[in-house]
Amino acid sequence: MKFSSPQATDTICALATPNVISAIAVIRVSGSSSIEICNSFFSKNILESKSHTLHFGRFVNERKEVIDEVLVSVFETGKSFTGEESVEISSHGSPFIQQEILRVLILGGCRMANPGEFTQRAFMNGKLDLSQAEAVADLILAQSKQAHRIALSQLRGGFSEKLSNLRGQLIHFASLIELELDFAEEDVEFADRTELKNKLNEVIQITQRLADSFALGNAIKNGIPVAIVGEPNAGKSTLLNQLLGEDRAIVSNIAGTTRDVIEETLNIDGILFRLIDTAGIRETQETIEALGIERSMQKIALSQIVLVLTDGQDKLQLEKAKKWVESLKIQYPEKTILLVQNKMDDSVSEDSETICLSAKYGKGIDVLKTKLSTIVKGDFDFENDIIVSNVRHQEALLKTIEALQKALSGMEIGIAADFLAMDIRAAMRYLGNITGEIEVDRDILGNIFQHFCIGK
Ligand code: GDP
Repeated sequence: MKFSSPQATDTICALATPNVISAIAVIRVSGSSSIEICNSFFSKNILESKSHTLHFGRFVNERKEVIDEVLVSVFETGKSFTGEESVEISSHGSPFIQQEILRVLILGGCRMANPGEFTQRAFMNGKLDLSQAEAVADLILAQSKQAHRIALSQLRGGFSEKLSNLRGQLIHFASLIELELDFAEEDVEFADRTELKNKLNEVIQITQRLADSFALGNAIKNGIPVAIVGEPNAGKSTLLNQLLGEDRAIVSNIAGTTRDVIEETLNIDGILFRLIDTAGIRETQETIEALGIERSMQKIALSQIVLVLTDGQDKLQLEKAKKWVESLKIQYPEKTILLVQNKMDDSVSEDSETICLSAKYGKGIDVLKTKLSTIVKGDFDFENDIIVSNVRHQEALLKTIEALQKALSGMEIGIAADFLAMDIRAAMRYLGNITGEIEVDRDILGNIFQHFCIGK
C-alpha cells in the first residue's frame, strides 16, 4: 500500500490494537475534526473538554443505538502524539464493536488511516524527527531487552543528538572554509589546515564508530542465527536442550536420528539468538542423511555464528572437526566459526579458539553463553554507545564518511577551498537525511511509513 501525503484537513481513524477478541480495544482518531466527529456519536459533550481528560459514556451509531460503553480520551492540538487534535476511544475488545465504531467514525467524516500515518503526521508536525519516527516501529517490534534499549534510546533522541552534534562541527568547519572564499583574492588561510584535518579526522572516527555499530544493531534487531553442526552423536541435541533449558529436541544415541531442522530462540544478556539444530554432518551416501548434510550447509550459510560440535573424546572426529573449522573459516570469513569439544565431562575449559564442555552434565554451558554474547557485542557497550540498527541510517553514515574522506584527501593535496566546502556540505546533507532535517525524498518517506502497522 502506498501512502498518500497527509492533508491538514483530513481526520483519520484506525484501530490501534489487533482486530481480535480482547479485553479492550483502542481506536485512534487524529485531525482537526477529531473531537467534533467523536462528540456527535458520544453520550457526553466533549467539545469544550480539556486536553488529557478521560470521559466515560456511551458510543452510539447514526440511529442513536448504543454500540458500547467506552472511555474517550481527548488531546488538544500540539499536545498529542501526532501534534494534531486527537481522540482515543477505548471500547470492549469485540471485533464487531471495533468495526462498528470505525464504520460510524467514517460515516461522521473520518478516513481510514494508512499504515504509519499517525507517526508520519507526528514527523510532519515536528513532534519527532525521522530517526525517532523509525524508532517507534522498532520499539513495537523489539523482541529482546537490547533491541528494546536501542529503539528506546533512538526514540528519546540519543542518536539524533549525536548527529546534530556532528553536523554542528561540520557547519563550523564549512563556515571557516567559506570565510576564506570571501577573501579569495587576498590568498589567505583563516583556517589552520592541521587543525582542520584533526577535526575532520575526529568527525570521521565518530561517524565510523556509528557505522560500525550497525552490524551489532542489525543483529540485535533480527536475532543472531546460530547453527550447531557436527557429526551424528556429537551431542548437538543435548547441547541445544542445555542451552534452551528444556527438552526440546529428541535426544537419542542412535546416530543420525535428529533429522529435522529445529529453530528455537535463546535470550542471553538481553540478546536474542536463533538456534538452529541440524542433522549430523557425515560423509555418507545415505539419502536422508545426505539431505541433512545439505541442510547443515544451508543453515551454515544462513548463520552468523557456527558452533562446530565434536565428540572431544573421539580423536579422529576431533581432527576432522578442526579441519572443517579451518575450511569454513576460509569459506565464510565474515562468520564466527567456533570449535566446541563436547563430552569433556571432566575437563571443561576454554581458550580463544576452542571451548571444551559437557552438554550432558551441563558443564561449561555458561562459558559458551558468555562467549556467544561477547562475540556479538564486540567492543560495544550498550550503556554508553549509540547503536545504529537501521539500514537507511547505515547507508547515510557510509556516504557521510565517503564525502568526509574525500575532503580529507583533498586537503592533503591542497585542493581549493570551494571544493572542500562542497564535500563538507555533501556530508552534512547525508547526516541531515537521517533525521529528516534535510528534506527527504518522498519515495523514501513513503517506504519508511508503509512498513508500519495500521494505527501507528
Ligand atoms: P546428536 O546426534 O549430535 O544430536 O547427539 P545427541 O545429542 O543425540 O547425543 C548423542 C549421545 O551422546 C547421547 O547418548 C547423549 O547422551 C550423549 N552425550 C551428549 N553430550 C554428552 C556429554 O557431554 N557427555 C557424555 N558423556 N555424553 C554425551
